[in-house]
Amino acid sequence: MFNLIRNWRARRIVARHPIAEALWQDALRRCAPARRLGASDQATLRVLATLFLERKSLEPVKGLELDDADRVLLATHACLPILKLGLDWYDGWHSLIVYPGAFIPGRTHTDAAGVEHQTHTVMAGEAWGRGPVIVSWEDVLHGGRRPGHNVVIHEMAHKLDMLNGDANGFPPLHRRMDRRVWTRVFSAAWDRLQ
Ligand SMILES: [Zn+2]
Repeated sequence: MFNLIRNWRARRIVARHPIAEALWQDALRRCAPARRLGASDQATLRVLATLFLERKSLEPVKGLELDDADRVLLATHACLPILKLGLDWYDGWHSLIVYPGAFIPGRTHTDAAGVEHQTHTVMAGEAWGRGPVIVSWEDVLHGGRRPGHNVVIHEMAHKLDMLNGDANGFPPLHRRMDRRVWTRVFSAAWDRLQ
């Protein structure tokens, strides 16, 4: 676990401001994928969630209020994809914006012919390349009832994917990993999951 928190400042934060036991148990109760982890992975996740809360800004908007337990729950979901990677993989952005429910960003985009279009798609979450992650709190709480749906994990996966450019499903690989092998293994796992 300690190679995940290399610097002394991070260690001090974890030592002095750990997530309180009651809040952590509450997060495990509400977050099934975290609950199913072994004890040592759970301990790592708790450290990562502690540092996530320290480094990122959780920003409820449109009248939404989040208490400490809600914040710990969000951080716990958010750190699952980096459990074996470390928080550095979330460097380069700061804000996790939380809408009360699904949101409809009013966007204009100009097509190849130069015509402007307004888009009004209902979103449960959104991740910008170098910008914030946006999620709907309603979907954080209830999306989990549909097997395979978790809006926070989904948006964080986009963040990892976009570390090497477009959101194309191909994240940066570790050194010495073969692109073709990765693609074959990942595609097979994806098919099985489907
Ligand atoms: Zn997506």
